[in-house]
Amino acid sequence: MTDDPPTRPEPQPEPGLDAARPLDRYTPPACGELDEIGAILADGRLSGGAPVVAAYQHALATYFGVRRAIAVNSGSSALHAVLHALDVGPETEVIVPATAPLPTAMPILTCGATPVLVDTRPGSLALDPAAVEASLSPRTRAAITLPLWGYPVDNEPAEAVLTKAGVPVVEDACQAHGTRVRDRLAGTLGRAGCLSTHDRKPLATGEGGFVLTDDEDLADRVDHFTHLGHLRGDVRGVNYKLAAPLAAIGLRRLRGLDDHLRRRRAAADRLLAALPADGRLRELPHRVGDTPNYYSLVLTIDPDTETGPDTRAEAAAVAAALASVGLPPDSVRYRYRPLPQRTLFRPYRTPCPNAERLAAGTFQLPVHPGMSEAALRFVAGRIAALATRK
Ligand SMILES: *Cc1c(COP(=O)(O)O)cnc(C)c1O
Repeated sequence: MTDDPPTRPEPQPEPGLDAARPLDRYTPPACGELDEIGAILADGRLSGGAPVVAAYQHALATYFGVRRAIAVNSGSSALHAVLHALDVGPETEVIVPATAPLPTAMPILTCGATPVLVDTRPGSLALDPAAVEASLSPRTRAAITLPLWGYPVDNEPAEAVLTKAGVPVVEDACQAHGTRVRDRLAGTLGRAGCLSTHDRKPLATGEGGFVLTDDEDLADRVDHFTHLGHLRGDVRGVNYKLAAPLAAIGLRRLRGLDDHLRRRRAAADRLLAALPADGRLRELPHRVGDTPNYYSLVLTIDPDTETGPDTRAEAAAVAAALASVGLPPDSVRYRYRPLPQRTLFRPYRTPCPNAERLAAGTFQLPVHPGMSEAALRFVAGRIAALATRK
């Protein structure tokens, strides 16, 4: 979600908060990465062919419980490589939810394929199964699902339609490290999962990403494509390798990922407990038993008020009020919009009223482990005040 230059409203000064430091800026504490990088430098092998990259891939496959993990230089590269390996190219189509941010859908264009924007179910990030059915064609080569903001998505009905049609599902779990859906980790539910380790993600290596899959043949094709075909000259490829120092950082930080996620969930619970039960804001719903990773805590306008004529105005007012206290939701901060509203995707526009409503009426809040007690209290107080019906 690094698509637009951020428009960051000035936060209001608050006792106990550092006004110069935006609340959502998180710097992970040192966990030995420097030692790791020192060892790599001493060894002298810094490229993507170094042994540490293989060790990182092995650790990722073990953590996620899949047969294969392939480390690459970004989440975007992971998506491009998987789509390419599934024979997505000119004259083919890829289904993508209209709620997807630009980096989810851009790799479809990179492949020269046609994105097919599909609406979500009302109030949900899940693909609408009827809309999926209606958008299938003989050219459909893949469908992308997306646990946006790290929220578990109940895509089972849409997946049933896709499975019946023989269309493979690619999960863009780029923000969803540790999100649990139906007792499985996001990124392991489809034919392949793509994750990012960009600085803002729960596992961060600066830039980076990886592909997860149980399909050995697909894994081999992704591996060959991202490694210049291993220079055998029989298949086309690109150089998307992850450099050794970044793999070393990832390997070290992976050990702390569960603790990091536990602290995010604790912070989210704190903020949710501050919301009044009969207020106008509530958490974006997810199925009982599924767990978000709290990449962001996402609030939405309570559906009881959604039928009112003023919903759009109310959503805009909530977004503006949050922005004015230094808590801009993604619609303000990154100018997050559903795909049909983006210039690049206008040629593929279809009516997606549910996605448009969801995008305008969701509010993302920071819940990272670096938030101080004062910061949590501040956010809790602001959302409680905003949620209280006048
Ligand atoms: C971050 C992100 C990407 C792209 O990952 P990069 O590593 O920045 O290329 C793709 N999709 C989603 C949902 C993301 O959050």
